[in-house]
Amino acid sequence: MNHEINPESQLYGGPRTQWSDPAPPEARSSWGPYFDRIFPRSWTNSYGNYKRQTTGVNHARLLWSERERLRQWARQSDYHRGVVLIVPEVAYPACLDCAWLGISTSATDPRKVRRASRSAKRHGR
Ligand SMILES: [Zn+2]
Repeated sequence: MNHEINPESQLYGGPRTQWSDPAPPEARSSWGPYFDRIFPRSWTNSYGNYKRQTTGVNHARLLWSERERLRQWARQSDYHRGVVLIVPEVAYPACLDCAWLGISTSATDPRKVRRASRSAKRHGR
């Protein structure tokens, strides 16, 4: 599997006719910023938007729940704690203290995961 999570990489459903929907307002304090960062608004069609609202939302929610799981175990601190979030086969540098999300990479390549880890450590310095 390619590490790029893009529900529209194979766009079915005909020509693009609409803008995709952003994350809903009620997700603003949770997975919404992740969704909007990974899936910026784009010109698409109803199928592309449907894929974003299903596969895309699931991906952002999974990432956020992994972040929340790590936050429960991490010690409190007053600086931005960088981590690497891994959801099936995709690794993201992220932060336990804000909604920052770095560039995704393959979680199956240890060198790329180490690079994501260095990027996470640089965050907030
Ligand atoms: Zn941060």
